[in-house]
Formats: sequence, structure tokens, C-alpha cells
Amino acid sequence: MSTGPDLLQHLNDTQAQAADHYTGPALVIAGAGSGKTRTLIYRIAHLIGHYGVNPGEILAVTFTNKAAAEMRERASHLVPGADRLWMSTFHSAGVRILRAYGEHIGLRRGFVIYDDDDQQDILKEIMGSIPGIGPDTSPRVLRAIIDRAKSNLLTPADLGRSGEPFISGLPREAAAEAYRRYEARKKGQNAIDFGDLITETVRLFHEFPAVLNAVQNRAKFIHVDEYQDTNKAQYELTRLLASRDRNLLVVGDPDQSIYKFRGADIQNILDFQKDYPDAKVYMLEHNYRSSARVLSVANRLIENNTERLDKTLVAVKEEGHPVVFHRATDHRGEGDFVAQWLTLLRGEGRAWNDMAVLYRTNAQSRVIEESLRRVQIPAKIVGGVGFYDRREIRDVLAYARLAINPQDDVALRRIIGRPRRGIGDTALEKLLEWARVNETSLLTACANAAERGILDRGAQKAVDFANLMQGLSDAADAYRPAEFLRIVIDTTGYLDLLRQEGQEGQVRMENLDELVNAAQEWADENEGTIADFLDDAALLSSVDDMRTKAENKGAPEDAVTLMTLHNAKGLEFPVVFIVGTEEGLLPSRGALTEAGGIEEERRLFYVGITRAMERLFLTAAENRMQYGKTNAAEDSRFLEEIEGDFETVDPYGQVVEYRQKSWKNYRPTVPAHGASGAGQSVAVKNTSPLTAGMAYRGGEKVRHPKFGEGQVLAVAGMGEKQEVTVHFASAGVKKLIVKFANLTPA
Ligand code: ATP
Ligand code: MG
Repeated sequence: MSTGPDLLQHLNDTQAQAADHYTGPALVIAGAGSGKTRTLIYRIAHLIGHYGVNPGEILAVTFTNKAAAEMRERASHLVPGADRLWMSTFHSAGVRILRAYGEHIGLRRGFVIYDDDDQQDILKEIMGSIPGIGPDTSPRVLRAIIDRAKSNLLTPADLGRSGEPFISGLPREAAAEAYRRYEARKKGQNAIDFGDLITETVRLFHEFPAVLNAVQNRAKFIHVDEYQDTNKAQYELTRLLASRDRNLLVVGDPDQSIYKFRGADIQNILDFQKDYPDAKVYMLEHNYRSSARVLSVANRLIENNTERLDKTLVAVKEEGHPVVFHRATDHRGEGDFVAQWLTLLRGEGRAWNDMAVLYRTNAQSRVIEESLRRVQIPAKIVGGVGFYDRREIRDVLAYARLAINPQDDVALRRIIGRPRRGIGDTALEKLLEWARVNETSLLTACANAAERGILDRGAQKAVDFANLMQGLSDAADAYRPAEFLRIVIDTTGYLDLLRQEGQEGQVRMENLDELVNAAQEWADENEGTIADFLDDAALLSSVDDMRTKAENKGAPEDAVTLMTLHNAKGLEFPVVFIVGTEEGLLPSRGALTEAGGIEEERRLFYVGITRAMERLFLTAAENRMQYGKTNAAEDSRFLEEIEGDFETVDPYGQVVEYRQKSWKNYRPTVPAHGASGAGQSVAVKNTSPLTAGMAYRGGEKVRHPKFGEGQVLAVAGMGEKQEVTVHFASAGVKKLIVKFANLTPA
């Protein structure tokens, strides 16, 4: 085991300087594959091995739990004591801090973490009574508004106060009121949501400096990977943690900022030197990951972004294989092309594990999966239909949650009718009313249903349910997580419910077995109670191992990875396929109407390209089925930007000649064939409406001949049918069809 300066021999000069950075703020800013993450790990090892820092005083924040685990693993090969490092995501760090100190800000023991669906359940209940929120408003929209507000550290009052009169099409005051009531309801249920994990920790630190001080003792040296994707709340959390000792090292690449839609603010990394004027800045300029040809494609692409910091990134590796592009006749032909090449490369001795297929949207995975399955290529899908999102899993976990936290009304409402217990809607209404008046939980209302005369008919059934839950509460304390979940499944009557569902119920039962296995595996690796298991399950991100494993049960270890471009951040594979390089997919349809949308999509494509170490394949389809209809598709504008840096091949992999200027119109002369039965390809005119006359963007000021000046709130549809929602000072909110509205820029 090498410690001390020796360690840095595995780094280049600039990396070594950064890894040797001892105290004070530092910024490592560099392009993809330049060794930022590697430098960060070596820095941690060097702090311990060379500077003698106690591993128990080092914190590293990563983007996923999986990345955190990998970092710990890699560090443990370099120095002893790595098991005492604090490596986690922002969210996991928040849970840990709030579990320890949350009581200061009114969180009671056993609080639960609400996910998206739980949030929406609450919002559904409260929305109806808020003026300005129509019955057709989706709780999803409200949830997004609230999440975004939290990312930006805005309270309900802040949200109501600032900005345009409308937010995502809702009156701002109404949205703020929904936010306010949502917070009150959630608090009453002793629950917090994802956003709170950060914002409540920030509040805790602001209000209780002694708590902050205690946590700072555990985080004297702080590291943040992927800093370009932090939002304002995470930024503030980092700032507070680092405020005492100022040993903060962040690494990131502004060109890989891809989470703006979740509130990430690229400005955080760009302003780092403003926040810490004494910060040392390290720029890494060599790319160790990708072949020179792959890197050239990446560099050329990203140069098209106007809002960017210019950086140098030179390949260390050789030229390597040409980058390949294939335009298939349709989406199935695209899948077959990928399958064919995977098989070929496997024949050349590559492991399935070395290869990944990346796409813009999860929906694209189905066709690829089918193509792979037809020729028996094993695949693992990362972040598909989440195992932990399945109905039966959520139900059983809701029982567990309620057992731990009797205040969790959301969980109770979820499960009280599964299986049916003879407590109908009217009874539930009465119980709710009583709970509200007495400021207590639904479960308490159930327990008192008979004694207090809350229900005349069926009171005993409510009491029975409360007793069942009391029993489960006791069991939660007495049994290990897997045993406890088994008890939940066996004693609640849930299995009988599934038995009535035939074949589908059978699959669900198997999933529940898998849940018990997952809890067992978790317990083998972690210490803790069912409450800890629930925390971890709630925090699983789509790329985390525990999730991927559960979602791909039965799949062999060696398998091709299928995942979205977003999920691929930070990873690398010898062989990468990026499918669906088409207008409307990459860039996505939604990006066209967003300010800065195209540049964000370009960064996403850049992230995808730079995952490839040796071979990169880009594919598109001429015709694609989307939303049940097959439409002509058009090549992504990004392909034009990297033209000349890739070879276009036919379905057999033969390079086809094309005239540079009109390469887009090239169609293969070899008739296409293959399992999808694709026939002779036909020239498709560029009929895509996507690029036709994209005129308006949200936020833009416009003038209407009758309504006067207004501001665009939303844009929907494309081309001839494009609609804009405009707020006019004189006439309020109007929906207009662009073609007929005679709008002019104001
Ligand atoms: P990303 O921006 O995609 O997160 P990164 O900058 O974090 O990339 P790393 O993942 O740390 O880059 O490194 C990319 C690859 O290059 C890894 O396989 C890493 O081991 C390798 N690498 C980095 N620096 C060196 C070096 N000095 N010597 C050998 N290999 C290196
Ligand atoms: Mg990295």
C-alpha cells in the first residue's frame, strides 16, 4: 500500500498539484474525462496518508449513492481508514444530519421521507379548495413548482411575493397558497420531502450554530464532485458547512451541467472565485478517457455553445476507431443495428459489461430491449420502471412507514383499503374530520372510533385496523428489517389480495419476495433498523446498485447497460451507442421552447459522447413511432455540427460515400434488411414541423393589435398549430394561435 508522495505519481502534474492542495478553498475545473474525480479521490487519500488528516473529518459529496460507494472503495485501496470517510449525496447527508439533530427544528423521531407520489397525494387533497387552481390542474405541476421553489430556497411567502403574476400557468398567489398548505399538512404528518432534506438542514444550520459547529467537526475537509449541477439550496448547504474551516475543494465541468430543469445553477461553479477570492484554481487539460477521434467529436460539438467558458482538452489516447453514424429506416431498424454491432463486438472479445446504449428518454429503451432480446443479448436497464415505484412495493413499504410513524396519514390512506377492511369513503371522511378537529392523526382516530363514537357502523373495523398497526409497530422494534417486512406481508392480508389477481398477482408476489431479499442484502452490508432501510430505499437514485439489481432481477451479471444520457453522467464505457440523434429527441421537443434549452441539450449530448473510451456509435431513424404514431424524423441539428468527424455506415457497417454538402440527403443504396424486415429505404422530405418557425419563448415581451403589450407565459405545439399563452396587462391571460394572432415583438 503506497502512502505519502508516492501516491501522486499516478497523476499528471496539474492533477498532482490539485491533489496536494492542503487547506483553503480550491476549484478544479476541467472538461470530461480529464481526471477530476480521480484527482478528488487521490486528494482525499493524500490528505490522510501525507498530511495525516483524520478520515473521520473528511466529507465528499457525490451525485449518486453509487458514486459515493465507488469512491470509498477506490480510496480504501489507497489508504487505510477509508471506512471512516463520510461519502454521500447531498440528500443522504441531509437525512443523516436531520436524523441526528432534526428535533431542534420540530422534527419528531421516526419522521418519514415523502417521495413524488406522496407529495402529489397531499396536493390532490388540498388543491380543490384553493381559489385560482382549477380542477384540471395537475398535482404534478404544483409539485414541480414547490420543488423548484425549494431548490431556490424560497419559502411560500417568497414564492408569493416575487416575479411574474403567473407561474407554470397558475396564478402565483394560488401556487404560493398551495405550497403553504402543503407544508402545514406535511408537518402535521411528521414527514419531510426530498427538497426539505436540503432546505431544512440549511434552516437548522442557520438557527442553531452549535449544531452547525458539531457537524463541521465531522467535515473539516469538504469535497464536492459534479459541482456544476448544484442548485441554490445545495450551494448554500455547502457554503455553510465550509464557512468555519474553509477547506472546500469542488470539481466540475460547466459543459456538463444538465440538471437545469431541477434547479441546478451553472453560475455556482462559474462564481466560485467570486465567493472565494483566495481560491486556488486547477485546470486539467488532458483527457485520459476517450480516443482522439471521440474527443474531437465532443470538442467540436460543445464549441457551438455560446454561453461557455473556453477550455482546452487534448487527447492522451491514440486516434482509435472512427466514430460511426447510422441512419436506420425506422426505430426497429435502429435497435437491430445496435444489436448487430453489440454481437459483433462481443465476438471480438468484449464483455457485455463494457458496452452501453444511451438514450434521451426512457421510452426509447423498449425498442432497444426488444432488439437485444431477439438475439439474446443480456441487458440491464438502469432507471427503468422503478422497482421501488411498483404498487405492491409501495404498499408494503407504506405499511412499514405507518408502523414507524403513526402520524403518516398519507401512508394510512394508501393502505387502509388494501386489502379491503370495510372502511369506506364515508367512514374515512368521518375519521379525517375527527382527526382534523382534534389535531391528531388518522390512526388515532381509528383507535378511538368506537369509544368516541366517531363511527356508528363499522367502528370495530377501524379499531381492528389500529390494533393491527399497533402490533406492527411493536414488531418493527423487535425484528430485523427483512423479517419485519415478511411479517407485514403475512399478517396484513396483502397476500390474499394478490392471490385474487391471478397471473399478475403472482408477479407481484415475486416482487415482494425480492423486496425481502433486498432488505436482507441491505442488512448484510449495513447496520440499522427498518427505519434506516426505509431511508435508504427512499433515497435510491435511479443509478444506484440496490435499485438496478432489484429492477433487473434474474439478469446475468455481465450485461449491456441501457440508460438515459442523464444517468450516464460521470461514468465511462469502452463502447457507447447513442441512439435517437434526431430533432425532437436530441434536442428534445421541450428544449425548443425553453430559454437556453438547445445549449442544455448540446451539453447532454456532450456528456453522452464523452462516456465513450474506444468506440462511439451514433444512430438515428428516418421514421419513428412516438405516442402510437409513426412519423418522419429528421437528423439532429447536432450531427451537422460535427459533420466530417464521423463515418456514415449502412446496416452492414460498410462506409457509404456521401457528398459532404448534401450528406443529409444520402440514402443507402444497399437494400436494408434484418429482423425488423425493413425494406427499401425511401427518401423522406424534411417535413418535420419542429424546426419550422419557432418564434416565441417563455418570458418574451410581445404586442397584440387589440390587447396591447404582454408577456409570453408558455408556448405549446409547433409550426402552424403553435399556441402561446400570453399575460396582457390590459386583458389578463389569453391563449392565442401564433399564426392568427398578429403578435409582434414588443
Ligand atoms: P467526468 O467529467 O466525465 O466526470 P472526470 O474528469 O471525472 O470525468 P475521471 O473519471 O476521473 O474523469 O477520469 C477519466 C478516466 O481517465 C478514468 O478512467 C481515469 O482513471 C483515467 N485517468 C485520469 N487521469 C489519469 C492519469 N493521470 N493517468 C492515468 N489514467 C488517468
Ligand atoms: Mg467525474
